[in-house]
Amino acid sequence: MANSKYEYVKTFEQTTTLLPNTYIVVRVDGRGFHKFSTKHDFEKPNDRAALDLMNAAAAAVMKELPDISFAYGISDEFSFIFERSSRLFDRRESKILTTVVSTFTAYYLHLWSTFVPSKPLTPLLPSFDGRVVLYPSTQTMRDYMSWRQVDCHINNLYNTTFWALVQRGGMDVTKAEEKLKGTLAADKNEILFSQFGINYNNEPEIYRKGSIIFCDVSYPYHQEVPDPAALAVSKNSEVEISKTQKEKERKRRSKAEIVVQHTDIIKDDFWEQRPWLLCGDADR
Ligand code: ATP
Ligand code: ATP
Ligand code: MG
Ligand code: MG
Repeated sequence: MANSKYEYVKTFEQTTTLLPNTYIVVRVDGRGFHKFSTKHDFEKPNDRAALDLMNAAAAAVMKELPDISFAYGISDEFSFIFERSSRLFDRRESKILTTVVSTFTAYYLHLWSTFVPSKPLTPLLPSFDGRVVLYPSTQTMRDYMSWRQVDCHINNLYNTTFWALVQRGGMDVTKAEEKLKGTLAADKNEILFSQFGINYNNEPEIYRKGSIIFCDVSYPYHQEVPDPAALAVSKNSEVEISKTQKEKERKRRSKAEIVVQHTDIIKDDFWEQRPWLLCGDADR
């Protein structure tokens, strides 16, 4: 950039650098999606096409930012979890946050007509806010993921019962709200089963468990037989990974399939079966 007498204004800029060796979590959330979903006639309680669109936008973000190792989405929100050792944008908070939010929003708009072809987008247009949270250990990061999945369960059980009362039971919304006030999970399960013959456990997993997206590197991983421990060490160390190694890793990731699953991420099984998700994690 050319020098000028105005250059000094740059000294007013403030940057927050995210702590090293911590999990960076960026959570994006739709702004005013209660209103947005009404305006665009989302099916209640769950519009499947809208969820598929969220997942597709999240997968696109992950393709563009390979330092994201997995993402978890429910309703109008998505959490993106970066590798602990990520050096993306020198870990500058504003660059990371704004890039994730704007890339997600751009793909959401771009893919809208593919997923919701019958409803053209008109203002009110969708927009998303975002925040960054740092988690210092695998335990806290996993507790964060568990928190979001528990939220998914609580909200979905409530919404499923609420909308059954309204849509199938002919109740008005105020009455349905009153009926559900102070009820426990067992009460809602009972209402669903006895009044509407719905077994909540048979509801689609995407609604009950949310969506987890990650690179399924298991196949090339085993084929090339890289030593996960060595990879973890090299990612954590200050030693610059050689260009060829970096290129190999980039190719391996770009070949790997991005998968969407609707599964339990609270129990250990999910993480034990996919060790590469926590690769580069010193305290695992
Ligand atoms: P804020 O701007 O504070 O986030 P909001 O209106 O977006 O406000 P949220 O708590 O984020 O509030 O809730 C999102 C709302 O969007 C849900 O309560 C639901 O009404 C609606 N929504 C999001 N996704 C779907 C979907 N796939 N199907 C049906 N409704 C949805
Ligand atoms: P970064 O991601 O770090 O911002 P960048 O490639 O966007 O990288 P900038 O410093 O923001 O770098 O510069 C933007 C570049 O985009 C310009 O150097 C120029 O090459 C190009 N550019 C932007 N707007 C125009 C335009 N209207 N016409 C032609 N080129 C443009
Ligand atoms: Mg919202
Ligand atoms: Mg939300």
